[in-house]
Amino acid sequence: MKLGKAIKKDFKIFDSSNLVYLDNGATAQIPNIVVEEMNNYYSVKSNIHRGAYKLSENASKKYEDARKVIADFLSAESQEILLTSGTTMGINMLSQMLCKDLKAGDNIVLTRLEHHANLIPWQQKSKEKGFEIRFIELNKNLELDLESAKKLINEKTKIVSFAHVSNALGVIAPAKKLIEIAKKVGAITILDGAQSIVSIEINVKDLDCDFFVFSGHKLYGPTGVGVIFGKIKLLEKLEPVNFGGDMISKVSYTDATWNEVPFKFEAGTPPIAQIIGLAKSIKYLQNVGMRSVFEHEQNVCSYAVKRLKEIDGLSILAEGAERISIISFVIEGVHPHDIASILDSQNIAVRAGHHCTMPLMKHLGINGTTRISFGIYNDEEDVDRLIEGLKKIKELF
Ligand code: PMP
Repeated sequence: MKLGKAIKKDFKIFDSSNLVYLDNGATAQIPNIVVEEMNNYYSVKSNIHRGAYKLSENASKKYEDARKVIADFLSAESQEILLTSGTTMGINMLSQMLCKDLKAGDNIVLTRLEHHANLIPWQQKSKEKGFEIRFIELNKNLELDLESAKKLINEKTKIVSFAHVSNALGVIAPAKKLIEIAKKVGAITILDGAQSIVSIEINVKDLDCDFFVFSGHKLYGPTGVGVIFGKIKLLEKLEPVNFGGDMISKVSYTDATWNEVPFKFEAGTPPIAQIIGLAKSIKYLQNVGMRSVFEHEQNVCSYAVKRLKEIDGLSILAEGAERISIISFVIEGVHPHDIASILDSQNIAVRAGHHCTMPLMKHLGINGTTRISFGIYNDEEDVDRLIEGLKKIKELF
């Protein structure tokens, strides 16, 4: 299937505007068929796993079918898929479930690149439990340094959690190698896949990670839905952290026992429409093919890197690193916010700021960057419009 301009017709937002949307790292646009799928659910709405009537049975079936679509997309089993509200919620849940027995003397290992969502939950737990947080260093290309990982990960390391692709720089982590190092000391591995899921074909069996977390809204799906993949053996052992309806087996006034995996982790009415919508987005992407998505984004990215060189004083962060779909840059003498607002006046949407990675920006000695992030509908014409816009900005400053 042809990507870029040819598929803009699948997205209502591109119907009547000449918008150049280059902020897919914040959220991706949603195909019309996904909105229709959610409307279909809402027009015959019912709750799941409850009613013994057809409407509810149908909704339950759609919901569980969606879980299967998500599982297949990751090469996982349905039972291993926990449905939540997003990456942030997923990592918060994992931090609560996995840190129960951690204590002073233990450590967990993150990286210098982490999004606040894969930092603050662990910081909070560290304050409560007294364990240490270590950060894998970056090499001069701003890639994760495996030598640093080998030094930091030791027999006291209980968890290694890292962004599979950095949302700030687009750098791809050497995931399999890091997981291998972590496994040697028996640490639990968590991949924050919020940014990788959109560009890279994910096979959790091949990666051999214990957990993989992502959000629906960056994957051309709705907001309010996210996924935790977890290995079944671990999920069976873990205690839930959210309690209420649907997650129980038996309840008395004084105690309760839990439903089986994955239901024991899904308390209350879930975001049913969003989960059904996410499965539709995944089917849409499967039709495109994740290999084509990867290649398309690589091509658009390389074209953009080449053209950005025409702008005097512009430097790309992590230019030499293995990257995907994201380019973060600074222009000497121009504030990222000015760049973003002048581009906005030309109907070009880019992101400016710290990208929820404040410690990384400080580590790099900058206040922020301008970030462009590509999706399946972007193409060289979008890049050309961006370059024209940047050239105008250079004339102004
Ligand atoms: N981690 C990474 C790497 C991300 O890119 C994002 C979203 N920008 C998050 C975590 C948080 O995702 P959400 O806001 O959807 O929970």
